[in-house]
Amino acid sequence: MPTQICPLCGKKAKYDNPPGNSEKYKCFLCPVGGSFVISLMAEDHLAKFPIIDRTYYSDKAKDAKKGKVLIIQFCDDGLEAPLIQRYDEKAEWFRLGDEIN
Ligand SMILES: [Zn+2]
Repeated sequence: MPTQICPLCGKKAKYDNPPGNSEKYKCFLCPVGGSFVISLMAEDHLAKFPIIDRTYYSDKAKDAKKGKVLIIQFCDDGLEAPLIQRYDEKAEWFRLGDEIN
């Protein structure tokens, strides 16, 4: 898997495209926040946030229940906070064997 700086915590993390190869999303495996999925637009948007605000999402990623994963998406429909988050089935986004935690 390729690596890059984690958009949530700034540490080096692995990522991959989700199964089905949607290039709009990256599935991260971070040593700090664990696994989470982020859209490319949300990643761009988060890059403008101070690290303290991004930690919020890192904590949310850690809070995911077993078998679930945090999805962070950008939804610019005029809302004050265009980042939306939800938990989804982890198996939909991560291939078996990708686990690190
Ligand atoms: Zn991270």
